[in-house]
Amino acid sequence: MKFYPEQYKIPDVAMQPFIDDEEIWNYLNLAKPTKESVEAIVEKSLNKNRLSLAETAVLLQATDSAMIETIKKGARTLKEKVYGKRIVLFAPLYVGNYCSNNCRYCGFKASNKTALRKTLTKKELIENVQALEEHGQKRLILVFGEHTAYSAEFIADAVREVYNVKKDHGEIRRVNINAAPFDIEGFKTIHEAAIGTYQVFQETYHHETYAYCHPSGKKSDFDYRLTALDRAMEAGINDVGIGALFGLYDWRYEVLSLIRHVNHLEACYNVGPHTISFPRIQDALEYDLDDRYQVNDEEFTRLVAILRLSVPYTGLILTAREPENIRREVLAFGCSQIDAGTKLEIGAYSENPKVDQNLTKEQFKINDDRTLNEVIDELIESDYIPSFCTACYRKGRTGQHFMEFSVPGFIKKFCTPNALLTLAEYITDYATENTAIKGWKLIERNLLEMDDISYLEQVRERIERIKQGERDLYF
Ligand code: SAM
Ligand code: SF4
Repeated sequence: MKFYPEQYKIPDVAMQPFIDDEEIWNYLNLAKPTKESVEAIVEKSLNKNRLSLAETAVLLQATDSAMIETIKKGARTLKEKVYGKRIVLFAPLYVGNYCSNNCRYCGFKASNKTALRKTLTKKELIENVQALEEHGQKRLILVFGEHTAYSAEFIADAVREVYNVKKDHGEIRRVNINAAPFDIEGFKTIHEAAIGTYQVFQETYHHETYAYCHPSGKKSDFDYRLTALDRAMEAGINDVGIGALFGLYDWRYEVLSLIRHVNHLEACYNVGPHTISFPRIQDALEYDLDDRYQVNDEEFTRLVAILRLSVPYTGLILTAREPENIRREVLAFGCSQIDAGTKLEIGAYSENPKVDQNLTKEQFKINDDRTLNEVIDELIESDYIPSFCTACYRKGRTGQHFMEFSVPGFIKKFCTPNALLTLAEYITDYATENTAIKGWKLIERNLLEMDDISYLEQVRERIERIKQGERDLYF
């Protein structure tokens, strides 16, 4: 499989910026989609090949409804063919929202004097994690503003603290981070705390728009942010997540730039990002941008389908920023992870702290505020397998999405059984009665699909052990 087939104007050199706006636009402007070319490109992806920038640009420029349907159908087929029915669940936990930047789209910007500023105390952090565990969460992403208070040591301590919180059968098995970029030393400190994925979004890859949206603060340095994941990799964190905030600039440009970013990491470090996020901008207090580049629902679902086809072995994360109906459509295109039971207000997972009601507590509005159990229930109804699996990280199997994609039988042997085991744990410990009934039926249906009898027996035996009280069993 050829990773990065293009010759770029700015060659890929580790720790060096690589985005040339004109080059990205050239790819887009030169792309001339036809029925045949779109079909051929989709076919290439279905044959488990990564797409080049030029090929992705063709999909991005397709406007004819039949071509768009070919793209969406292709993404649905790829999902069914490769990934099966698992959806990994996680929850975001805002640890602190002090911030010295002034991102025009964010309710936590420094100039917003009506935002409640808070950093969870150690006690509050523990209480929030306990509350999340009581709902059945096993995977968290800790989120921080960009502020001197949130040093690498501070973040590493928070991560260690979260791993230590155990409530009954509850524990957090994977702690991811979404925080401002560090230097290599800082990333090493965070790495030592055994974080899962380090995630940072470029927001927009378009230089002029970036400068406009980030008028002051450390985040105003485009290149420092662009090369953040290079520094993370140099520090030994090879599990990283990229993202763009859709609505700041032309969505086609952003998708192509995300792919350019993937190519850069693959070229320099031989490993692409673990995940791509594509948050769509939501209303926020003191929001300060026009809606010129807003992405409508059809464009949004299409861009996810194109991402799926373009980087078939990268995890795609969809968040609670999106309403239920969009979530449902996008899941069918191969999103691998969603958050559930999300609360963005600081400290809101445990008791709501008493605060001045005139102050806002959330960074932006979310559109899906269902509980974890409600989301799990709907996933089960739709025949997805909700999963809290963390087996690959614990077994030292890195490049999990790549293995799922490229190692024959990997999903059958590891992913599906592990997803079923974590679902069995969830049902036993946390599910409502109704969800539990449906959940056990789903597990049974999936067990019956297993063709290797001796393996099936091993899975059944582990499920029995879970019913007897054992936890954290995986292959
Ligand atoms: N402060 C760090 C940073 O900016 O990278 C990390 C936390 S920030 C709270 C996480 C992400 O939230 C940002 O990268 C941005 O993409 C997203 N975000 C900010 N404002 C938003 C809005 N109004 N709607 C949707 N997402 C938003
Ligand atoms: Fe601060 Fe992040 Fe919000 Fe920007 S997006 S104002 S850096 S919290």
